[in-house]
This record gives sequence, structure tokens and C-alpha cells, in this order.
Amino acid sequence: AKACGRNCYQFFNQEIQLQAERTAQLHLHLKKAISQNELELFYQPIVNPLNGKIVKAEALLRWCHKGQYISPVEFIPIAEHSGVIVEIGEWVKTQAVMMAIELKKLGLHVPISVNVSTLEFWSLELQTRFLQFFDQVVEQLNIDVFPYEMITLEITESLMMKQQKAVCELLSLLRQRGIRISIDDFGTGYSSLSYLVSFPVDQIKIDKSFIHQLETDPRHKALVEAIVSMSRALDLTVIAEGVETQSQLDFVKQQQIQAVQGYFYYKPMSKSDFLKLL
Ligand code: C2E
Ligand code: CA
Ligand code: CA
Ligand code: CA
Repeated sequence: AKACGRNCYQFFNQEIQLQAERTAQLHLHLKKAISQNELELFYQPIVNPLNGKIVKAEALLRWCHKGQYISPVEFIPIAEHSGVIVEIGEWVKTQAVMMAIELKKLGLHVPISVNVSTLEFWSLELQTRFLQFFDQVVEQLNIDVFPYEMITLEITESLMMKQQKAVCELLSLLRQRGIRISIDDFGTGYSSLSYLVSFPVDQIKIDKSFIHQLETDPRHKALVEAIVSMSRALDLTVIAEGVETQSQLDFVKQQQIQAVQGYFYYKPMSKSDFLKLL
């Protein structure tokens, strides 16, 4: 350890420096990503495991920058940090609505799930803006009605801890209009389960980390079983996320989980590939 001491220190220092420079670069370019047409929505089908039919799809954001795809895991936190997530969120919702309208015209009832960042609800001002978006987009896209029944919002548990009452009211209002609310990454947060009763929720998505550990740690089976029976008692739909193998699928089916998302069926794909598939 002694021999490596100074070199290691320099190495880590360099790593941190490079990482900081990359973040600063991405930060700078992300602001222009929308106007320069660098963002794209991919779609990952969600399947009924009993008949293999596509029942829904999740919209997943991709950023193609200088010929490379940058993962949302890397750029969403940067977007949140700089506040540009609000514009990005509106771009994402607009694209998803356009897609929903297209699907409706084709006579396909495949609702689109959209990820919503906690930051989009951060202040009272942003909450108002969020709500107004739905009326504005109707004008902007020159459509008669917003296809609320075709849109699901995926929110995380952290959102429910912040601004409880105001966010709850906002989501209730949208839900009255027909939007569905899904809890993403269910089980990974630290919030109390009581929000499932007090919050306007339709659906929960079991986080892929639970699904991936089903085989290695049998306690995860108990966990998934508990989530499923609780959801059933509360009349919530369950989606299992990250299903990759036959044995994961078998377990999920055995639990009578109604919808499955994962590489076992489909990876996220471009809009045109998704339309071809349908
Ligand atoms: P998420 O919402 O939990 O989305 C599911 C992620 O799991 C996606 O990663 C998807 O490609 C991946 N996935 C799906 N099936 C499998 C599987 O079988 N195995 C494995 N290993 N992975 C699977 P992706 O597309 O890289 O997105 C990562 C995260 O970025 C999302 O996690 C979400 O938190 C965020 N994100 C993506 N698009 C948006 C967006 O439009 N807005 C916001 N705010 N966040 C977004
Ligand atoms: Ca999601
Ligand atoms: Ca998730
Ligand atoms: Ca997530």
C-alpha cells in the first residue's frame, strides 16, 4: 500500500478531475440538446405474461450527443441539478402524447408510461406549470382533447415525501381526468407504506433489483409475495420490472403478476421499431 500511495492518490485525483470535466461539459451541452434535436424517446413494451400481448409501454429517454448515446442514468441527475429537467420533462411528455395520439388513431390501446422527476414538482410554481402543461399541449398540438387515458405517470417514493399535500392534490386532479399514477422502483425508497392509501396511486412497479435477486436470495421471493398480496388488497396493478430469465418469469406468473417489463420479452427500442412491432 505504501508503494502505491502517491501514485494512487494522483490516479484518483485525475479520475475525479476527468469526471468533473465531463459533468461540466454535459451540463453545458444538455441545455441545447432539445433545440439541437439530440433527444429521442425509446419505448419498452410491457407484456401480459399469460398471452404475450403488449399492454403498455414505458417511454425511456435517450440523448445522442456527438454520435454517442449517453445513458439517462448519467444525464438525468445533471439535468435535475441544472433545472433543465423541467424543459426536458415537458419535451418527453409532449413526445409521449404525440405517440399516444398516433396509437389511438391506429386503434391500439397501448398506454404510454412517462417517467417524472421529483424536481418537476419542486416548487408551487413548478406544480402550477406542470398542470398548465396539459392544457397548453392541447393547443400546441392542435388536438381536441388530451388523451389522458393513454398516459401513465411514473413517480418515485421520494416524490411523495416532499410537498405531500400539494403534490397529492395535483396528481388527484390529473387522475380524475383519467391519467394513471404508477410508483416506480417500488420498495427501494425509505418512505412509509401509508402513502399507498393516502396517495392517488393505480399501479406499482416492483424494482428490478428484487427480480434479479430472486434466485440468489430466497428472501426476495417472500418480499415480492408480500408486495403482490398487499397490492391486491389495495386494488393496485403490479408490474414486474427487469425480468430477464425464464425462471424469473415463471415466478412472476406464479404470483399472478399482470404485467411484465424486461429483456426476456423486449429491450427499449426506437419509436419506428416499436410501431413496426405493434
Ligand atoms: P427506470 O424508470 O427504472 O427504467 C427502467 C430501466 O431499466 C431502463 O433503463 C430500462 O432500459 C431498464 N431495463 C428494462 N428491462 C430491463 C431488464 O430486463 N434488465 C435490465 N438490466 N434492465 C432493464 P434506462 O432506459 O437506462 O433508464 C434508466 C433510468 O433513467 C430510468 O429508470 C429512469 O429513472 C431514468 N429515465 C429514463 N427516461 C427518463 C425520462 O424521460 N425522464 C426522467 N425523469 N427519467 C428518465
Ligand atoms: Ca420508470
Ligand atoms: Ca423502475
Ligand atoms: Ca429509476
